[in-house]
Amino acid sequence: MSQLKQDIYGRIGVSRVINAAGRMTMLGASHLADEVAEAMAEAGRGYVRLSDLNDRAGQLIAGYTGAEAACVTTGAAAGIALMVAACVAGADPAAVELLPEVDHGRRDILIQIGHLVSFGAPVAQMVRIAGGRPVSVGWANGVRRDHLDSAIGPATAAFLYVQSHHTVHHGMLPLSACLELCRAKGVPVIVDAAAEEEFGLYIGMGVDLVAYSGGKAFGGPTSGFVAGRRELVAACRAHERGIGRPMKVGKEQVVGLLVALERYARRDAAEAASELARHQRIVAAIANGLRDAPGVRVEIIHDEAGRQIVRAAVHVGPERAAALAKFLSEGDPPILLRGHHATEGFLAVDPRPIDDNDAHLIVERIRRWTSS
Ligand SMILES: *Cc1c(COP(=O)(O)O)cnc(C)c1O
Repeated sequence: MSQLKQDIYGRIGVSRVINAAGRMTMLGASHLADEVAEAMAEAGRGYVRLSDLNDRAGQLIAGYTGAEAACVTTGAAAGIALMVAACVAGADPAAVELLPEVDHGRRDILIQIGHLVSFGAPVAQMVRIAGGRPVSVGWANGVRRDHLDSAIGPATAAFLYVQSHHTVHHGMLPLSACLELCRAKGVPVIVDAAAEEEFGLYIGMGVDLVAYSGGKAFGGPTSGFVAGRRELVAACRAHERGIGRPMKVGKEQVVGLLVALERYARRDAAEAASELARHQRIVAAIANGLRDAPGVRVEIIHDEAGRQIVRAAVHVGPERAAALAKFLSEGDPPILLRGHHATEGFLAVDPRPIDDNDAHLIVERIRRWTSS
């Protein structure tokens, strides 16, 4: 623990945390590999035309994703805004400078109601800052094909699909059905795939644009990218002279993202399997460590959004989950578990950002809470 105090965060007087919540942007997203961190430091020591760097980054990312084109963003949130800006205003310089105002009526962004979530900020707001008007489709407990079909009209600029553990999964239309309906009427389909792991999946399905976080699955710095059709990506880039300016990405982030993506792309099945085995070992250690803890039941669960992630769900009951989260986050060092299901009575330990030692500290701290 004294070692934790001597790092850069301790020196500037900010406490470092044990992040067992996941690849959360608000907790720093990812632990950078040395290769990524060194590349970022090197990038920071020189000058470059950002436009040259962004052009080249777009080519490289297009190569990884199989898309016609791509561009770097500050994250998936900026990606949503830029995808919407591209669909609402295109690349016309006057329209770019006018946003978020729009001088025509084609600005509706259709979204299934269960996808109108907050990932820490509302998806709908990312749409509005780019001049779009979020229009919800269907009911909270079910969206039918005819709901989407009849929502499409002359005011429709795009359909936004959010792929995430944050969304409602029950009763929503699958992306394939949305694509089919939207294609038939010439409506662009844009996807927020912030934390998804397969960067070629949505492009392969034929979506028009998709946004990812660079700092989540891919282990990059806080960053992101949009990939998709050439003309629409060029329109995203055009907004660098408009609403995209306060979302500009620094050269260090662009370089860090490229190195992280290169590492991710060359990762083989053996590496992925050994990482999964490491996760399983950590999750089992949490379950074993808390086996006889009073009032606690641990269950191994799989990711809600279908990703290859196992987690340890620590069930303490709906009345006590918030108190446990508070106790853990107020200790030294603060421990943050995944709280999405606290109202259902459990907190989850995400093994990706922690090591064996952290797992041990988590077990100890939870045991201390049960005996206090
Ligand atoms: C994290 C997240 C975002 C925002 O991504 P950033 O890279 O932090 O901007 C958007 N949508 C979803 C579903 C997310 O999980």
